[in-house]
Amino acid sequence: MKKAPHETPLLDELERGPWPSFVTGLKQLAQENDMMVDLLGQLETSYRTRIGYWKGGTVGVYGYGAGVIPRFTELKDEQGKPLFPEAAEFHTLRVQAPAGMHYSTEILRKLCDVWVKHGSGLIALHGQSGDIMFQGVTTEGVQKAFNELNELGFDLGGAGTALRTSMSCVGAARCELSCYDEQRALRKLINSNLDEMHRPSLPYKFKFKFSGCPNDCVNSIQRSDFAVIGTWRDNMQVNNDYSRKYFREHGMADLVNDVVAHCPTRAITVHEKKDVRSAPDLSVAELDENMSLVINNRDCVRCAHCLNVIRGGLLPGKDRGVTICIGGKSVLKIGATMGTVAVPFMKLESDEDFEKLNEFARKVIEFYGENALEHERIGEMIDRIGLANFLEALGLPFDPNMVLHPRTNPYVRTDDWDEQVEKAQGRPQAA
Ligand code: SF4
Repeated sequence: MKKAPHETPLLDELERGPWPSFVTGLKQLAQENDMMVDLLGQLETSYRTRIGYWKGGTVGVYGYGAGVIPRFTELKDEQGKPLFPEAAEFHTLRVQAPAGMHYSTEILRKLCDVWVKHGSGLIALHGQSGDIMFQGVTTEGVQKAFNELNELGFDLGGAGTALRTSMSCVGAARCELSCYDEQRALRKLINSNLDEMHRPSLPYKFKFKFSGCPNDCVNSIQRSDFAVIGTWRDNMQVNNDYSRKYFREHGMADLVNDVVAHCPTRAITVHEKKDVRSAPDLSVAELDENMSLVINNRDCVRCAHCLNVIRGGLLPGKDRGVTICIGGKSVLKIGATMGTVAVPFMKLESDEDFEKLNEFARKVIEFYGENALEHERIGEMIDRIGLANFLEALGLPFDPNMVLHPRTNPYVRTDDWDEQVEKAQGRPQAA
């Protein structure tokens, strides 16, 4: 210590302009750490030549088959010596973040201390799969850093053809729309299937993600093979105090334009209690008294838009649970796909409910492991074998909720739906 900094004219350009630049962060770390000095040198070379100079390899910790992303430099001189020797090995440790990303500042400081001691000091919170990315460590430092992180209670995440690290939204701790215990669901599924993460044996990656409500704050429907999304099956709850507060602050135009008009199934209507048109000079307070918002819960598809806008005025119902969607992923063989509804509603409250969820997850993983082709995600496998075959193999009943826009799809017969609902609700059936 301390190595002189390299000239980085191209990287310096990235520090101009109004936004924070990652280059500034790297330079700060380089003041204390020679690995970062050489990293900047290699990065500058890549910007100049437009070539990436990292190659993979095999680096791990004892007992684990995944969780470390090896990176070796390919920038060498004629004798084969690295041009930037301090950054010649720049591996990444993928470490599982706590469910819901709940940290104490004390633990964050300890994590930073470990990485300053053994690695480059560069940490990314969080990678796409939710990992804490400890970036930049030599092969020798990998095991030492892991041991200390492990002592703090942290474990390596997934990489390669394995179950990947999972993410859950912040959940009930900070959000009133939460419909189940996301953190518990995450820990249950990951801890029960940890072997699939640490000893890769699947055809390709497999991700669980957990969102507490249909807002899907962790993008589970797009970014996970097994999305667990909170929902409710009874009527949504209405808090009149908050609803009126919204109306007083925003008025009729916002109510109609931002709430009623945006309901995808037109489940919301505004009703007059008395004829407000014959009294056009009514104040907002008087309008408030004489108008009411009516939600047809049977038509509601739980998109959560109105709940977001009338914050606190409308809340999920009391009969809460989860919808499970299978097969979301980014662009691969068949383009980006959203998860398909496999289980429209599952209660998730008791110990037995969580066991049931785990049993179902195991079945899905095993079916995927046995039937997918190499490098094929489960969404692609379903596309290849057909949704009907997938559902049948898992013993799942077919349900109209699995059909996109069932009401406008001419292939869905709705002949006896009304009778079935009336029967289920114990209402007299029409002759
Ligand atoms: Fe409409 Fe239901 Fe979405 Fe509200 S949550 S906007 S009622 S579909």
